[in-house]
Amino acid sequence: MKVIEKAPAKINLSLDVVSKRDDGFHNVNMIMTTIDLSDRIECRDIEGDQIKIKSSAPYVPEDERNFAYQAARLIKEIYNICRGVEIVITKNIPVAAGLAGGSSDAAATIRALNQLWNLNMTYRDMLNLAAKIGSDVAFCIQGGTALATGRGEIITPIDSPPACWVVLVKPPVSVSTAEIYQALNIENATHPNVEGMQEAIKQQNFEQMCLLLGNTLEDVTMEKVPEIAQIKTQMKKIGAEGVLMSGSGPTVFGLTRYESRMQRLCNGLKGFCREVYAVRLLQKIDILSKYE
Ligand code: ATP
Repeated sequence: MKVIEKAPAKINLSLDVVSKRDDGFHNVNMIMTTIDLSDRIECRDIEGDQIKIKSSAPYVPEDERNFAYQAARLIKEIYNICRGVEIVITKNIPVAAGLAGGSSDAAATIRALNQLWNLNMTYRDMLNLAAKIGSDVAFCIQGGTALATGRGEIITPIDSPPACWVVLVKPPVSVSTAEIYQALNIENATHPNVEGMQEAIKQQNFEQMCLLLGNTLEDVTMEKVPEIAQIKTQMKKIGAEGVLMSGSGPTVFGLTRYESRMQRLCNGLKGFCREVYAVRLLQKIDILSKYE
């Protein structure tokens, strides 16, 4: 038998790094939302009790370094499962791009194995497991739009933002999240108005939402990747209503309510960067998997 799960990417509408913790992680306060750009995760039974990973993309490890592998190993340990599984990952989300691709693959693996192995995990069980793998995995269990606090693993669902287009531009470099956090000086950094963003979303006030887009990590990554500032300028010139770097970058997204502007943004930016995507926001993920 096999189970297939969609693993969608996220963007951060607001990302504040509040403080550094004794355990080396940072306390964050962020609003994340799921977008319709997804990897495909297929989990299927195999002989023996091994975990096998296959990925369609280069630079994605096919061993215990893969977050999907780590999710499967943890589930096997906790639930004492002696079955083998092959996890086939079809990557569409750019890697190391600030879009939580690896985290979403892990979350989708948790949802898939819950079905494949009839584990009857609740949403809370899945969240607890997710938090052990990585800070963004918990959000990716259900997706939608949420406030994430703690080191990112404490999830409070909030209203969905007004419908809009999201144009993503990924400069041809990857950044390491750990390195960006290391280079961050919290005292001198800019801190976005996360509460204001939450209120703007609640009011469905798109203009205000665009005005309040903010990310503490943006200046840090921009120093290493000057293309980010250039992409932001281009996007604003073409008519994006709001522009921000997602996560630790380097992907930049532009928001617009108008299809014509979305098309202009795509056309205008493709001459500048090879990787350009236009997607919509996605609602909460249906936790029940589909069988094939
Ligand atoms: P985040 O936004 O959560 O910080 P990201 O989008 O910046 O994440 P990922 O695409 O998750 O970054 O990749 C970060 C690193 O994780 C990669 O360099 C890769 O080696 C490793 N990795 C492990 N598993 C996966 C996976 N399933 N897909 C992509 N990368 C993975």
